[in-house]
Amino acid sequence: MLQRLFGPTGRAVPVIGQGTWNMESDERAGVLAALRRGVELGMIHIDTAELYGSGRVESLIAPVVAEHRDRLFLVSKVMPSNASRAGTISACERSLKRLGTDRLDCYLLHWPGSHPLDGTIAAFQRLIDDGKILSWGVSNFDARELEAAAKIAGPGKIACNQVLYHLGERAIEHAVLPWCKAHGVTVVAYSPFGSGSFPAPNSEGGRVLQRIASTHRLTPRQVALAYLTRDPAVLTIPKASRLAHAEENAGAGDLVLAASDVAALDRAFPLGSRRGLPMI
Ligand code: NAP
Repeated sequence: MLQRLFGPTGRAVPVIGQGTWNMESDERAGVLAALRRGVELGMIHIDTAELYGSGRVESLIAPVVAEHRDRLFLVSKVMPSNASRAGTISACERSLKRLGTDRLDCYLLHWPGSHPLDGTIAAFQRLIDDGKILSWGVSNFDARELEAAAKIAGPGKIACNQVLYHLGERAIEHAVLPWCKAHGVTVVAYSPFGSGSFPAPNSEGGRVLQRIASTHRLTPRQVALAYLTRDPAVLTIPKASRLAHAEENAGAGDLVLAASDVAALDRAFPLGSRRGLPMI
């Protein structure tokens, strides 16, 4: 699977990882089998959050973490309401306990909140000093918010910005992606399948996806994942609770689309005008 440097961490991380949102509602054995298979196939970047199922997702995935800890690039997130200086440290310790590990590879602020950012960043630094996290990043930050975070943290500190990015929502390409590229921050694309609203096969865009997929013996979703990760600054984390879905997604990990395919997708799923950063 293609690997990309994760921000300033020096770690190479595969282009396709695994999301875990809503997994607490899916069948436990199936979820664990899908995650395990995904890891076996190279999708070692696992994204979770204390928010997901109010901590139940972190507990749910702990067996897979235990089996594969040293291979994984494990990411969790602090909720903005917990992101005071002391609250961030306690939240991280609770996440570590639920996940059954002594460290996270990256820890994110889930979205900008009301606690002053300098306190959250000071807590992240403390967690790094204590070996509880190896790097930190943000999520749902627009370019102005990234600028503010970089001003507090200094250069080369923010590992990633995790943001909404799928075929129907390319807003990050206006300002967030250029900012991240200019500052060495990895963009992690969340909800790459539109969180359940993937283009229908009979829609105009769906037909373009199908045509490209058929030409290369791929599936439309694999084409979508390859399109979203066409920029070397971008990784993605589709969520799959079914083993067959995890296998299909991993199959996109070596894929580089031809410029003509990228151009056809650009036309079928237009960027649209400059707008604020959407999130879900
Ligand atoms: P998503 O990955 O866009 O879509 C997940 C849906 O697609 C699930 O219903 C899944 O089904 C289905 N699916 C996955 N692979 C498939 C395949 N190969 N064929 C057919 N269906 C497939 O949605 P998401 O969960 O919203 O986003 C991904 C991850 O991003 C989350 O899980 C979470 O870790 C992260 N995220 C972060 C934020 C944030 O604010 N930072 C917000 C949203 C999401 P099954 O589960 O049944 O396999």
